[in-house]
Amino acid sequence: MSGTTSPFGGITIDFGAAGDAAPLAAAPLATAPGAAAEGPHETNVLILGSGPAGLTAAIYAARANLRPIVLAGFQPGGQLTITTEVENYPGFPEGIQGPELMARFREQAERFGTRVVDAEAERVDFSSRPFRAWAAGVEYRAQAVIVATGASALWLGLESEERLRGHGVSACATCDGFFFRDKVVAVVGGGDTALEEALYLTRFASKVHLLHRRDEFRASRIMQARAESNPGIEIHRSVTVVEVLGEESVTGVRLRDVATGATTDLPVEGFFLAIGHRPNTAPFESWLAKDEKGYLVVEHETCSRIEGVFIAGDVHDHRYRQAVTAAGDGCRAAIDAERWLQDHVPAKAAAAATGT
Ligand code: NAP
Repeated sequence: MSGTTSPFGGITIDFGAAGDAAPLAAAPLATAPGAAAEGPHETNVLILGSGPAGLTAAIYAARANLRPIVLAGFQPGGQLTITTEVENYPGFPEGIQGPELMARFREQAERFGTRVVDAEAERVDFSSRPFRAWAAGVEYRAQAVIVATGASALWLGLESEERLRGHGVSACATCDGFFFRDKVVAVVGGGDTALEEALYLTRFASKVHLLHRRDEFRASRIMQARAESNPGIEIHRSVTVVEVLGEESVTGVRLRDVATGATTDLPVEGFFLAIGHRPNTAPFESWLAKDEKGYLVVEHETCSRIEGVFIAGDVHDHRYRQAVTAAGDGCRAAIDAERWLQDHVPAKAAAAATGT
């Protein structure tokens, strides 16, 4: 590990690894301003997803002169762009807003020559190399691929929830909380996300009902303590939501008591879902293995069952699911991809992949 003075006046800490290895192809690091939407569609490393895993992989791959392309996906920046304060990402003792943190990740990746394309990979072909992926009608080819497509919010699956989505039903308090100033709202879920969202909503709403299907919360103790001591939050344990009420917009939720089966209607104008996530694996269905929960399977280190295809972040991790663990995973995947390319792809092909 070494430290150098960065051109921006601070200290750049170089953790060795990818950045220290001999580049596969000598290529200028800078990307011409405005070139993001254009340029070659061939690369050494194609990264699918732009959350902490994808963009950390991009930083490492770019610093190894691999000139990666990132297909940012349907939610550029990933899940942190719809959160508020991030208090547990190391290096930010005062906390940082999720969207700002991800903007910084992206800036750092682009600084070293990553090309980030705001498009979603709809289909891939991993049958032979170069691997291929299609996004917004454009074909991308790569010698190695890092899958870092993350996970998406879950919904209860009620017809009324679907019908009133955008009319008082939301899965993002950060995006929509502002619209519920001085109104009564409900949040469903018992994990850290639900409690975080409930606490956030107290900034706007006159009252927040927190609805959980069990007696015990899954959330961390610190979040539980904060929610329990917040006078703006009323906690309802052991209740399920059986219907969202309202025709044009939300007027309430119908709750069922888990023990007695009795139903009651709770008047609210906003209903926020915070019940977990599903991994974004659709394009890889016929290529990569999934576990019983639907998450991608990592064979060893960050390697998938297809040589040259690597996996990082929440798309395979349902245990830790933290920005910092995803970022660490992205770093590992980039190092694995770089080493694999060194061993398997002749320098000529690598140079051709970047058009150098
Ligand atoms: P989670 O931990 O999986 O919690 C999901 C919650 O939703 C659980 O309480 C679950 O109930 C409930 N739930 C699931 N399906 C439901 C359904 N159909 N109806 C009603 N309730 C349902 O998900 P998460 O809260 O999104 O957190 C995911 C990960 O991110 C966790 O590791 C968490 O620690 C982390 N996270 C961290 C922070 C932070 O540190 N600042 C913030 C947010 C998230 P049961 O408990 O009964 O299963």
